[in-house]
Amino acid sequence: LKRDPGRKSEDITAVYELREKLGEGSFSEVRVAQHRRTKRLVAVKCIRKRVLKGKESMLENEITVLGKINHENIVSLEETFETPSKLYLVMTLVTGGELLDRILERGSYMERDASHVISQVLEAVRYLHQLGIVHRDLKPENLLYETPLEDSKIVISDFGLSKIGDQGMLSTACGTPAYVAPELLQQKTYGKEVDLWAVGVISFILLCGYPPFYDENDAQLYRQIIRAEYEFDSPYWDEISDSAKDFIGHLLQKDPKKRYNSEEALQHPWISGGAALEKNIH
Ligand code: ADP
Ligand code: MG
Repeated sequence: LKRDPGRKSEDITAVYELREKLGEGSFSEVRVAQHRRTKRLVAVKCIRKRVLKGKESMLENEITVLGKINHENIVSLEETFETPSKLYLVMTLVTGGELLDRILERGSYMERDASHVISQVLEAVRYLHQLGIVHRDLKPENLLYETPLEDSKIVISDFGLSKIGDQGMLSTACGTPAYVAPELLQQKTYGKEVDLWAVGVISFILLCGYPPFYDENDAQLYRQIIRAEYEFDSPYWDEISDSAKDFIGHLLQKDPKKRYNSEEALQHPWISGGAALEKNIH
């Protein structure tokens, strides 16, 4: 395969010993694996091709996309193996767990911690967007800590739904409802802006521990999102800075043209100022 010279057709189990499960999706599972010779541990995403009938192109996307990426806040693809029924993506193993679990453990984040997490996500998003890649599935479950340490780096993973935009515009409806941008729900053409909306939703959750848009009824939830109807409710938001609220306001902007892009978001005082503060402390 010219497009992916690294794809190996040899048996992965001859090279790696596949071990315990780390996660499971609708057509894939992620396992720890150990390189037999070097003893190095990695994460292997095993994808059953059969379940993917008609969606092979989506899978090819994930591989093509991952192969081009090299950024400290994005999980890296090391090599791939293929059999007639399965595809194996060998990734660098990260051991710090999902951001979601840390949010649930802590309830909510201190502003400085939240700003630090979001700043790393934005660096990764800016990099992807520069390459013309829209992630489309940013959410806390897909943000992983590199190590169990409190100050661990964050990496983004799971490019199952990402795609390289032709003219920077995409138009397939997909994603997770709670994080999906209004233009996506309205089936308008959409682009990179959907990732910034998702960053807005994640920032909101990090600060207060609950999502900005929520309704048990999907139709009602969609309505809220399409109108960008959310509130900084008292008492949960009383102690949170105006700067944080201003930042979120620029991301949870229903008009994608008025929404901050990754560059603008990185320059917002809540992100750039917060990083400066941390530097002074240490
Ligand atoms: P899915 O398409 O099933 O959501 P993901 O790529 O998000 O697949 O992986 C599922 C889960 O497996 C993640 O939420 C995470 O807990 C774990 N995981 C994925 N990649 C890694 C990795 N490189 N290192 C450690 N754990 C990982
Ligand atoms: Mg995932």
